[in-house]
Amino acid sequence: MTDAPTKTLSLEEVKALAKSVLVSAGLDAHSSEVIADLVRMSERDGPRSHGLRLLPVYAQYLSSGYANPKAAPSIRRIAPGVLRGDGDNGFYQVAALAARAELIEMARENGIAAFTCANCHHLGALRFDTGPLAEAGLVALGVVNSLSMVVPQGGVRPVFGTNPMSFACPRPGGEPIVWDQASSMVALMDIKMAAAEGHDLPRAGGLDTDGQPSTDPNAILETRSLLPFGEHKGAAIAFLIEVLGAALAGGTLSVDNQERESFEALNIKGGATLIAIDPSRFGNPAFNDYIARICAEIEGNGAARVPGDGRLKNRAAAQVNGVSVAPDLLAQLQAL
Ligand code: NDP
Repeated sequence: MTDAPTKTLSLEEVKALAKSVLVSAGLDAHSSEVIADLVRMSERDGPRSHGLRLLPVYAQYLSSGYANPKAAPSIRRIAPGVLRGDGDNGFYQVAALAARAELIEMARENGIAAFTCANCHHLGALRFDTGPLAEAGLVALGVVNSLSMVVPQGGVRPVFGTNPMSFACPRPGGEPIVWDQASSMVALMDIKMAAAEGHDLPRAGGLDTDGQPSTDPNAILETRSLLPFGEHKGAAIAFLIEVLGAALAGGTLSVDNQERESFEALNIKGGATLIAIDPSRFGNPAFNDYIARICAEIEGNGAARVPGDGRLKNRAAAQVNGVSVAPDLLAQLQAL
């Protein structure tokens, strides 16, 4: 870390910088546009740990040959409500964007539909996978399995990835409700960011070399043994995501990361499932009233807020002020 002042970038400058890094790393123009836009949105809404900071990781796994920079995902409808994708060893988000219109149409037709994708990489925030479905009036649940780092309750070695999930639904008269979270107590990128910024985590996120819960990001990065959130309950959610993400899609299990090591890549090829539900096909004409009521019970309830609404405040500020970027990170990205 240096003491040099941070630089302020507009959101369009963030996107242009991201795109230039991705194109230089060999990613095709369409995928670079898609991923650069996700970097822009992560810097705008949060989590910023999944914005510009991810670009060196993306560049590494593209240039190392671990991921396919020219991936052409294929998508097939294999049942009335099932869309199956193969990411061609590229970014999941590019495959999911290609599937989105058909998934929405299938959910409206059947009431519920799912997109699964194997042979793909996902290292970003999941909120941008589910949010667009809620904007189309659907309820969405998205999961991705990842690299084994989370120890099951009482276990001694990692089995699950940080396995994130995201939920989104429309909100009458407002922006959709969208939240996403890792199955680990703390997301890996937040541990890396704390290490890069030289501070401890706000709560114990993993085990140190003595097997004790620790707030020291460097100690946790050494053991690569993260704690699930909520003890056995978080571990059970990580299990569910391993089943819905890897098993259903036919993606790589979080424990099967050996191939990745030979490329020294920081991500893993996993699997993902995105479920889209059309509430208007479920027979409750008052669905929107229920959502409004649930939100009303949370808002004004002490310090509680609707999950995920922090992003709207971040968004409003970033759209006016841009975002500040650490000079070390900016220099690193400009050198890529
Ligand atoms: P957080 O614990 O920071 O936040 C979890 C969710 O809760 C967010 O939607 C957040 O949105 C919301 N939230 C936070 N504080 C409150 C509060 N006080 N009241 C109500 N809602 C709140 O997320 P994680 O650290 O678990 O995950 C960080 C990111 O990492 C996620 O975007 C996740 O998708 C991503 N990830 C990606 C992985 C991958 O392999 N692709 C692996 C693991 C994680 P907000 O603050 O905007 O309200």
